[in-house]
Amino acid sequence: MRLVFIGPPGAGKGTQAEKIIATYDLAHLSTGDMLRAARDAQTEVGKKANEFMSSGQLVPDDIIVAIIEERLQQDDCQKGYLLDGFPRTIAQAEALDQMLEAKNTPLDVVLELQVPEEELFKRLAGRGRADDQPEVIRQRLVAYRQQTEPLLDYYGKKGLLKSVDGLGTIDDIFARVKNVLDGLAGSE
Ligand code: ADP
Repeated sequence: MRLVFIGPPGAGKGTQAEKIIATYDLAHLSTGDMLRAARDAQTEVGKKANEFMSSGQLVPDDIIVAIIEERLQQDDCQKGYLLDGFPRTIAQAEALDQMLEAKNTPLDVVLELQVPEEELFKRLAGRGRADDQPEVIRQRLVAYRQQTEPLLDYYGKKGLLKSVDGLGTIDDIFARVKNVLDGLAGSE
């Protein structure tokens, strides 16, 4: 299964992603985790990325597309993967489409985790990551609305989008996710 996971910052994607990859045996490709690892290792890419991450802006498309392109070629991705935090812009989605078309490995589903904005603020303010300062949170939510939300329409038109309610307990939400994913497996 090749799946894209979309949702605003604070929606709980990371928590659900862990459960999804364990249940369906997928590689977990979190661009946020990759960029934080690059930043902490002080690589050139990491230093450049941090200039954007620290203020809640998106890292430039060319940087992130190159990272994903390389990652998708690794062995563990051949069994299927969950893309978490990528694509985040229409340009990234188009680049992904091109990569996957070239390999003849289309996406199976784009899963959206829906959480209202008031709830996101509450959750993010309690988390304490370096980019979880109120001003940076606000900027990340703006980036989501302006740059990432258009992807819902993009994937909706391709018939790939499935939306899941992200409110409730972790187990409630995962049951909804499983419903969607198990439904897909049956139709293959
Ligand atoms: P969250 O979804 O909680 O905002 P992530 O861990 O996914 O956090 O990402 C943290 C930061 O990493 C983002 O605010 C952004 O600066 C950068 N980033 C992650 N993925 C991408 C991407 N696909 N394109 C551009 N920037 C990205």
